[in-house]
Amino acid sequence: MLVLENVHTHYGKIEALHGVSVEVKKGEIVSLIGANGAGKTTLLMTVCGTPQATSGRVILEGRDITREPTAQIMRSGIAIVPEGRRIFSGLTVEENLHMGGFFNTKAEIRKSQDHVYELFPRLKERENQRAGTMSGGEQQMLAIGRALMSKPRMIILDEPSLGLAPIVIKQIFEIIGHLRDEGITVFLVEQNAHQALNLADRGYVLETGKIRLHDTGKNLLANPEVQNAYLGG
Ligand code: ATP
Repeated sequence: MLVLENVHTHYGKIEALHGVSVEVKKGEIVSLIGANGAGKTTLLMTVCGTPQATSGRVILEGRDITREPTAQIMRSGIAIVPEGRRIFSGLTVEENLHMGGFFNTKAEIRKSQDHVYELFPRLKERENQRAGTMSGGEQQMLAIGRALMSKPRMIILDEPSLGLAPIVIKQIFEIIGHLRDEGITVFLVEQNAHQALNLADRGYVLETGKIRLHDTGKNLLANPEVQNAYLGG
């Protein structure tokens, strides 16, 4: 579904990704874990074309998107839930969802919205509430719901558990598992290595802009190196 081949990405003269290769197969949940500053967000944003890879290739469903503009990539069945949610806090829940269905017809928006409300009854209850007044967990649900409005075949999530209470994190990870059950391919970036690897079919460990390890989620959880560096021993 998504392949990164030997991707290098720079910010000016500084190289943030040093030849990264990652594959996400259709129907999988793949988790990318790594410390602060390892380059996780850079990797995701490179998939979205901002910044573009300076060398290497990004292939989405067999198409080379390395040099495509972000707007075009975002219309290719891929949706991103950015770090920090980036919802429109002054808009209501419903208005935020409509922003996610920007490219769709009214009938499609209605259908997607009903589906999002089925997945997240809490959002339906709060349909007319301003998003900025909701809890962090509800805002994260809204950010995921908004991404689903475009009916993506693949969803990319950047640290969805950041700043949330353990019980809410559990709910969010359950929802992500449910997305896979619905046939959506998931690429998940997390610092919460335990939950992310537990849920994942396969995982990658990114260290200072390089893939250090990749294996099944289960094997990575059992790997002493991962346990020492990311799971508190
Ligand atoms: P975090 O979890 O803290 O977001 P991360 O793993 O997502 O970390 P990145 O944000 O991708 O890491 O950062 C990777 C490296 O690139 C870091 O050294 C960072 O300082 C640098 N970097 C990120 N964004 C920019 C930018 N816009 N301009 C210059 N350097 C940047």
